[in-house]
Amino acid sequence: MADVGECLYSTTSMLFPKHTTFIAQSFYNSIGYSVGASLGASTAQKRRTLLFVGDGSFQIGAQEVSTLINYDCKSIIFVLNNQGYGIERAIHDGPYNDLSPWKYHLLSEAFGGEPGILVETEGQLEEALQIAEKSDKLTFIEIQVDKFDFGDTLRKAGAAMAESSKNSYED
Ligand SMILES: [Mg+2]
Repeated sequence: MADVGECLYSTTSMLFPKHTTFIAQSFYNSIGYSVGASLGASTAQKRRTLLFVGDGSFQIGAQEVSTLINYDCKSIIFVLNNQGYGIERAIHDGPYNDLSPWKYHLLSEAFGGEPGILVETEGQLEEALQIAEKSDKLTFIEIQVDKFDFGDTLRKAGAAMAESSKNSYED
């Protein structure tokens, strides 16, 4: 399950096991749909759900993590924290792209689940993945990256959208 922006672009090039189902929406439809949608996917089938969601999208449906925990869903949630609306920064940046600086990894414990994991390095991500693989509970992983740390697809898409709308903005 992928939300919009960098999470959608990144997951389309990831390798997953055979018979994995990929759920996403069309580009730029409803930011934030994925947390609630992963609850639906998790309760509709007996398969583990991996959710890739940005911080901006996550803030819209964060409370559904409580329901995922309450229903004992074994999801792995990756919150990509790039401190705001990354896709908008890739097009045109401004203070309106900044978000309230939540401590996302603390939320799963606050909602009654296991403590979340804060990832700031590649090594920490490897460790977090090992913990998640062995866990039979919901695993919540916050990955902190720089606010301009875009993948190539987002960088190119942002540049193209900026070019096509360059007369729409005033600096
Ligand atoms: Mg973001």
